Amino acid sequence: MKTMMRVTARVKNVFVCGLLCGLVSLCLVFSLSACSTSEAPVPHDPSEVFADREFSDYPAHAEAAPVKEPEEPAEPAAPEPPSLPEINIVEDIRSGLIHGPKGPEYQRYIVLHDTEGESSPDSVISWWDGNGNHVAAHFVIGTDGSIWQCVPLDNIAHHAGYAPDGSNAAFDVALDGRDDLIGTALAGSGYSDYGMNSWSIGIEMVHVGGSGYYPEEQLDALDALIAYIDAYYGFESSITDHKAWAVGNSDTSPEFAEYLANYQQYRTHDGA
Ligand SMILES: [Zn+2]
Repeated sequence: MKTMMRVTARVKNVFVCGLLCGLVSLCLVFSLSACSTSEAPVPHDPSEVFADREFSDYPAHAEAAPVKEPEEPAEPAAPEPPSLPEINIVEDIRSGLIHGPKGPEYQRYIVLHDTEGESSPDSVISWWDGNGNHVAAHFVIGTDGSIWQCVPLDNIAHHAGYAPDGSNAAFDVALDGRDDLIGTALAGSGYSDYGMNSWSIGIEMVHVGGSGYYPEEQLDALDALIAYIDAYYGFESSITDHKAWAVGNSDTSPEFAEYLANYQQYRTHDGA
């Protein structure tokens, strides 16, 4: 009986052993089968791997410096206005005497005139503005040295009028369309040049030609006004008189000749 029981136990052991071996073999077969049937490796696609992550999840980038916006170039500073000398000018601007804009790039001459009358500057300006001719200079200087202005420096005034053929070329000026030509009339045959107004500032002195010399107050005022115009433009305009531009005109009078020469050389009436 003991022998029978031992045999039965051995049979059981053999059976259990065989069952375990069978299971191990089966697992091995499945493993090998899985290996042998796997497909060729697919190239790595990082977007699949990191699709569920934010850029900031990565420590190296989480505290990255913010992208700096390019700085806009600083605007150039506005040019400093010219430092003008102290001068008393009575402004009596009359729109009817303005003939279009005139920037500093169009400034070349200061043209001097006599009013050929004894009226005060304010009376002269009112007469210019009311007679319908639209003719005026920018400034009038009284015999007492007062300075009146009726046309701004950055506008054209009709003070030099027509000149004989060839004057435009002689003074290197041109009638280039900036002058509105309102109130102008051809002075006569052969007077077809009209460019000076667009390239100059006009100054009238209250004076009657042949009446005597100019008062010192008036000449001092002209000195100051020319210095003011020079400072305004930042350069020295050529100084001339009306008769140099328009042959046959009488401005300025013979008693001004020495002063004119001094102005052209020294920019003051006495060369001081
Ligand atoms: Zn004149």
